Amino acid sequence: RRLDSRSGLAPGLLGESQTPISTEPMESVYDITGELGRGKFAVVRRCVEKATGKVFAAKFLRKRRRGRDCRADVIHEMAVLETARNNTRVVNLHTAYETDHDIILLLEYAAGGEIFDHCVSEELLPEAQITRLIRQTLEGVYHLHQSNLVHLDLKPQNILLTSLSPPGDIKIVDFGLARRLGAVGELREILGTPEYVAPEILNYEPITTATDLWSVGVIAYMLVTGESPFAGDDKQETYLNVSQVNVDYSREAFSRVSELAVDFVRKLLVKTPEDRPSAAECMSHPWLWQLCLSPEPAPATRTVRERSCGTKWTAPPEDPEDKE
Ligand code: ADP
Ligand code: MG
Repeated sequence: RRLDSRSGLAPGLLGESQTPISTEPMESVYDITGELGRGKFAVVRRCVEKATGKVFAAKFLRKRRRGRDCRADVIHEMAVLETARNNTRVVNLHTAYETDHDIILLLEYAAGGEIFDHCVSEELLPEAQITRLIRQTLEGVYHLHQSNLVHLDLKPQNILLTSLSPPGDIKIVDFGLARRLGAVGELREILGTPEYVAPEILNYEPITTATDLWSVGVIAYMLVTGESPFAGDDKQETYLNVSQVNVDYSREAFSRVSELAVDFVRKLLVKTPEDRPSAAECMSHPWLWQLCLSPEPAPATRTVRERSCGTKWTAPPEDPEDKE
């Protein structure tokens, strides 16, 4: 693949992480108590710190993939998590271990599972809960974009909840495809999951922050309707649906929610990236605030403030430390 002449890395990859990687066996510090999830190159296991009883999620990332040394990709994933350390909507990286096969990221545990479960269940979430989760997702995405990071794999499987019932706060996970924008010119390449991926990715066109906003539109659609907007019977059909932006906005699909929900999703699922609102612009959409039940307590510093009902959201002043 194409490499940056200065860093020797693929475009948009971060080269260094600050988190020390221990080569001690992690089993002497943690009890592994089960599996939380699994992807192509990673297994995530639930584990308990013996000394404290604290629960963590251990993401075992294979260092060799398809016969290639991928240690740099894992270091990149760690570095992105570190850059997002102050972002309360992103899962926290606690520490890391290394074995012959894997680098193991010890992550803050999100006990409520994936919001995916709320997209496929018979019982969808009440609209006021959906808008709360979308507000929190946008808040996380806003801060990532402020740091010139794009996630590029936002989907209901990568948005977790701190607790299940009642649904807690969201935590964004899985920064394997995340990239830094700007540093080394244009970013193209990189494929997420066809169902959730924006048309510019399928067309190999430049990637921007707007690519993540498309995914937020897909997530909102799924939480509201219980259907994946572009899923076809096969990959081919899915690709076609995405590139033609073939979406069902029928009253049946949106029967459970207000007219404003349709308007919100319609604004995000547009083909031309420049025509999509930014995360900050999305935050002032009336859908997100109309059903807000009670003002939430002021969050910790440096998060986007969730105002009480009816108040327009304004981006907080930029924090120079957020920028790299
Ligand atoms: P992959 O790159 O393989 O998709 P992810 O980081 O998305 O790996 O993790 C896979 C799955 O493991 C997630 O979809 C989720 O179900 C579970 N998982 C990941 N991180 C956590 C966490 N911090 N707490 C709880 N479950 C997690
Ligand atoms: Mg994932």
